[in-house]
Amino acid sequence: MNRRSFAQSIGGAAILSAIPSSSALTQSSAPSRPGKLMVIAAHPGDGMFTMGAVLAKQIERGGSGVMLSLSLGENGAPKNIPVLEYGTMQRKATENATRLLGVEAIFFDYPDAEIPFNQESSLRVCDAIRECQPEIVVTHWSGSWHKDHQNCYLIVRDALFYAALKTLVRSRPAHAVSKTFYAENWEDAANFAPDTYIDIEPVYEKWLQACDFYPMWRGQTGFFRYNDYYSSLSIMRGCLSGFRHAVALMSDSNQRNQRLQSL
Ligand SMILES: [Zn+2]
Repeated sequence: MNRRSFAQSIGGAAILSAIPSSSALTQSSAPSRPGKLMVIAAHPGDGMFTMGAVLAKQIERGGSGVMLSLSLGENGAPKNIPVLEYGTMQRKATENATRLLGVEAIFFDYPDAEIPFNQESSLRVCDAIRECQPEIVVTHWSGSWHKDHQNCYLIVRDALFYAALKTLVRSRPAHAVSKTFYAENWEDAANFAPDTYIDIEPVYEKWLQACDFYPMWRGQTGFFRYNDYYSSLSIMRGCLSGFRHAVALMSDSNQRNQRLQSL
């Protein structure tokens, strides 16, 4: 079965070596120019485990990347580590991981489990988008049981709108993001329907090394086996897309529209 057959068998999903920044999604084709990719995550682990491989791939192809964490995820601290100390460890792990991948790291200071969805947080992320000027944004899907993840989805939705609104005067000029994708996350699984598969084989080992900076990846903070889950997921998604390892993303519904003169 060739790649086209694979795509047809999984619902016509786009099978890509990287995310195109502006042109229409095309099956089995490489984008002509890698753009700047911005990851916006509620917690650093979400950013690196679910979106880090796509960031790494963007860098590997000559693009650029930035990872914004809305909180440090400090409440995931194990019993033997104070919460504030664990937050510092999370920040350090993210700095090391993003340095390894060659992407910029930005941290907001919202308390873990208390990330607010309001005008202030939406405008703050709007300002970060205008500052970073990404062509692509990857963030949480809304179908999550975790309130921080749900709020991150809503914040980014409004921030993208505000960032592009020319009549909204902020310190930086308006910036319109071309494409928005949602990451596959074990905590955001409700109604997640991937339609875009990215080949991460060239950066797979590097992404694993980046994830390994986090104690939670190594199973030192809780019950969930992050390492086993996300490394296995990349194999499963690779099987479905014809790659050795892949990341599956869900594109925003607004960018699935096609304007054709004929079929
Ligand atoms: Zn999280």
